[in-house]
Amino acid sequence: LTLLPTTTTSSSATSGARRRLRWPRMDSSSSAYHRHRRKDKVVVIVGATGTGKSRLSVDIATRFPFSEIINSDKMQVYRGLDITTNKIPIHERLGVPHHLLGEVNPQNGEFTPSGFRSRGGSIVSDINSRRKLPLVVGGSNSFIHALLVDRFDPESDVFDGSSSTSISSEFRYNCCFLWVDVSLPVLSDYLSKRVDDMLDSGMLDELAEFYDPEAKDLEEDSAHRTGLRKAIGVPEFDRYFRKYPPPRGMVKVTDPKEEDAYEEAVTAIKDNTCQLVKRQIGKILNLKGAGWDLRRIDATEALRAAVTSENSGTNNKKWSEIWERQVVESSVKIVKRFLKE
Ligand code: ATP
Repeated sequence: LTLLPTTTTSSSATSGARRRLRWPRMDSSSSAYHRHRRKDKVVVIVGATGTGKSRLSVDIATRFPFSEIINSDKMQVYRGLDITTNKIPIHERLGVPHHLLGEVNPQNGEFTPSGFRSRGGSIVSDINSRRKLPLVVGGSNSFIHALLVDRFDPESDVFDGSSSTSISSEFRYNCCFLWVDVSLPVLSDYLSKRVDDMLDSGMLDELAEFYDPEAKDLEEDSAHRTGLRKAIGVPEFDRYFRKYPPPRGMVKVTDPKEEDAYEEAVTAIKDNTCQLVKRQIGKILNLKGAGWDLRRIDATEALRAAVTSENSGTNNKKWSEIWERQVVESSVKIVKRFLKE
């Protein structure tokens, strides 16, 4: 809604035709104020894990250099387990400011959707007050819903089919939604490789350091886990570490039983990641069904090329060309139009 200034004539008749523009005076608590106030603009990137949201957010931020990124992945908000939760490495952030990425102390209990609404809301206001553009990026749709809706009920889970509260499509910001989508078979292939890459990059050592034998009894049942201890990789490798306690790392595994236990953990991680993807896609479709104007960006071809180039050992020029053309350019067009509105 655009607030047009009213034209008033100076009260003094002797001042002739001197006219001045005046904004209507409003009490900031009045409903008229809120109706007329321009809503802050926010670009939101949703999508399942592994679809390339983080990369796209940086690509968009480099095209619109006044952007700042707010992470909305509920595991990546915590400090620690950078490889396991797949946080975008610093060198790939290309200097773009990232908020709520590894900032929350995992010792302080669960970071909830309400917490995200309040911390994320302050960050959005701050970024806007500096006349910059917030890009909200991450796979946790409950966080995104909590942050954006006009009225939020912390007591209800809108994604739970039996909840009495439904997903609202009234937002407290002016939102532009990009939905990065990849066909499930291609994404599964990619994620399986990604888990192998994460293990090659030191995920096992990271998890060994995080392993807490004291937490064993409490966490046997995964429903009792909280915060970062729920991250995919932690429960799966805790099972392995209980049988084969760390330190391991550089020790070459020669015991076939231990090798089987290791493979079992890796397979469970891959399966659980695919389950997460399916849940996330279900929630995205719920948002769309509730009237959220999600603009679908298909990254299937780009990801297929990425997997193929890795398999064949060829360079990845082809995949980045496809990514640029099919994913970045279409997204940039949508954002450009939104910023002009
Ligand atoms: P939400 O339901 O809030 O939208 P979500 O999309 O992350 O969040 P959930 O179905 O709640 O999906 O699954 C969250 C679980 O997925 C976490 O408890 C964790 O096990 C796993 N998970 C999510 N993101 C990550 C991540 N970045 N790294 C590791 N595990 C993750």
